[in-house]
Amino acid sequence: MTTTSDKPLIHAQNVSRHYHLGDSTIPAVNDISLEIRPGEFVALLGSSGSGKSTFLNLLAGLDRPTSGAIHVRGRNLAAIDPTELARYRRDTVGMVFQSFNLLPRMTLAENVELPLRLAEVDRNDRAARVQSALEHVRLGARSRHRPPELSGGEQQRGAIARALVNRPTILFADEPTGNLDSVNGEQILLLLREIQTTLGMTIIMVTHERPLAEQFASRIVTLGDGKLKSDAPNSAAAVQSANATAAPAQSASNEVRP
Ligand code: ADP
Ligand code: MG
Repeated sequence: MTTTSDKPLIHAQNVSRHYHLGDSTIPAVNDISLEIRPGEFVALLGSSGSGKSTFLNLLAGLDRPTSGAIHVRGRNLAAIDPTELARYRRDTVGMVFQSFNLLPRMTLAENVELPLRLAEVDRNDRAARVQSALEHVRLGARSRHRPPELSGGEQQRGAIARALVNRPTILFADEPTGNLDSVNGEQILLLLREIQTTLGMTIIMVTHERPLAEQFASRIVTLGDGKLKSDAPNSAAAVQSANATAAPAQSASNEVRP
């Protein structure tokens, strides 16, 4: 199930984010306009310092633009108040980072449960949702382990479960394979694409690994010096994705959504 529709989910209009350091201004993101439709898997490519993380953080509501508008389902993230922006991050956004960011003293299940506690989900519902999210990333048997007892690939899958447990609309990932070897990196990308196709989730991923982007993303956007350099659909991955959905998915019954 790929639910790409024509109506944009995210509409960035002339978005800039300038940092001020002393007398100088760094245009980290410089007048970017972009529309992202539901169900897309967008890879943001570009060399180091090109503004990828800054732009991703703006779309995820972790930071605000210096100028421009970012509409997500009709709301402009640049204009809503801090409480509403926090609610957007909590309810609409799932986030995955290069460094996993799991709390080492907590079990995997407790880590995955954290967003549910922040969202004040009823205690009785939490355990089942945590287990379902862990099964979705094939870590159902690891729920009582602590992060230091898990491999890098397992930790990143745990971080993906934590990002999914609140049933977000958009999953943002900033260099999710940056700390992994190529085999584990490819497994994470396979998992992200499965999440895109089986849950119909919109995924926006920063990477500097073009071959991975070309293999898995449905669209490739390139940044350079804070500006949009190119934006093109990636039909090669679409063909692979269609083949992947034709085969019975191992986790088809592990629905995260109700
Ligand atoms: P990328 O993720 O593509 O490597 P970033 O978005 O992290 O790039 O950074 C873009 C530019 O903005 C870089 O020149 C970087 O040094 C600068 N930058 C990023 N964050 C800050 C900050 N908090 N203060 C000042 N400059 C920053
Ligand atoms: Mg970055």
